[in-house]
Amino acid sequence: MRTALVCGAGGFIGSRLVKRLKADGFWLRGVDLKFPEFSATVADEFVLADLRDRKECLAVVDRPFDEVYQLAADMGGAGYIFTGDHDADIMSNSAAINLNVLHACRQAGVRRIFYASSACIYPLHNQERIDHPITSESSAYPAAPDSEYGWEKLFSERLYLSFARNFGMACRIARYHNIFGPEGTWRGGREKAPAAIARKVAEAPNGGAIEIWGDGRQTRSFLFIDECIEGTLRLTRSEFSGPFNIGSDEMVSINGLAAMLMEIAGKQLELKHVSGPIGVRGRTSDNRLIKERLGWAPAEPLRAGLSVTYGWIQQQIQTVEAFPP
Ligand code: NAD
Repeated sequence: MRTALVCGAGGFIGSRLVKRLKADGFWLRGVDLKFPEFSATVADEFVLADLRDRKECLAVVDRPFDEVYQLAADMGGAGYIFTGDHDADIMSNSAAINLNVLHACRQAGVRRIFYASSACIYPLHNQERIDHPITSESSAYPAAPDSEYGWEKLFSERLYLSFARNFGMACRIARYHNIFGPEGTWRGGREKAPAAIARKVAEAPNGGAIEIWGDGRQTRSFLFIDECIEGTLRLTRSEFSGPFNIGSDEMVSINGLAAMLMEIAGKQLELKHVSGPIGVRGRTSDNRLIKERLGWAPAEPLRAGLSVTYGWIQQQIQTVEAFPP
C-alpha cells in the first residue's frame, strides 16, 4: 500500500488533501497542531505535534513515506498577513517548520516531497496595475514580495530546491493562488476574500450594505479547492520540480466578486468601501508554464465554486445561530 504524510492536515487544504489521498487508496498519517475544524479526519493516524520542534518532527517523519505533502504554515488572509503585526511569527514559525521537515525527510529516506508556496512571492512592482499583473514563474526574480509571508515562502522554495540539488530528493513546489471552498476559514480574522464576502452577503438583510476593504477595484483570481488538490497531485507525481503556479486565470475585481456573490444569494446590497489591508492592486495566475509542462490547468468557472461555497457558509451561519458557542 502506498503511504503518505500530510503536514498541516488539520488545515483547510491539508484536510481536503487527506480525503482525496485516502479515497485514492493511500495509508495516511496527518500531522498538525490541531484537528480539522469542520469534519473528522479520515487519516489512518493523526498526530498532534508541533513541527517547529525538531524532536517532534523527527518522530512524525519516522519512515520513508512514498509521498510527503508539506502544507503546514503560520498563515491567514490579508487581515493576518498584511498588517505587520504577525511578521516575526509568520517568518520564524514557517521557516522552522520547513527546515525541520526537510531534514527529517532526508534522514528518513523520503524521496518525494511537495511544498506549498504562494503567489505572495511575486514582486510588488509587477502587481501595481489592476489590469495586467505579471505572475509568470520566472518573474519572481529579482525578488520583491510585498509581505514577510512572501519572503519566507521564497526562502523555503529555495530551501527545497537546494535539497533536491544536493541530496537528490524529488521536491515539487506549487505557488498557490487564493484557494477557496467549503471547510475553509470563514470568520475570525484569517479568512480570505471569497469566504469573508460570502459571509457578509449571507448575514446582510436584502437591501442592506456590506463593507469592502479598499476601493474594491483591486483584482484577484480564486481557485476552487478540488482543482487545487488535483493540481497538487499532478505536480507531485510529475518529473518537474516547479515552482509552478496553481491558480485560476479568471481575473475578477473584488467588487465583481461581491456582485457575483450577491447574484448567487439573490440579494441587492450596497458596497461600502472602507480602509483595510488590501495587498497588491492586481493578481491572477499565469498558467502558461503549467499547461505546457503538465498538459493541465484549472478550468472550472469561478461562479461554480462560489455557489457551492456560499451554500456551505450559509449553513455554517445557521448552525452558529442555532447553537451559539
Ligand atoms: P491553514 O492555515 O488552514 O493550514 C495550515 C495548517 O498548518 C494549520 O492547520 C495549522 O494549524 C498548521 N500548522 C501551523 N503551524 C504548525 C506547526 N508548528 N506544527 C504543525 N502544524 C502547524 O492554511 P491552508 O489554506 O490550508 O494553506 C495550506 C498551505 O498552502 C500553507 O502553507 C499556505 O501558506 C499555502 N497557501 C495557501 C493559500 C490559500 O489560498 N489557502 C494560498 C497560497 C499558499
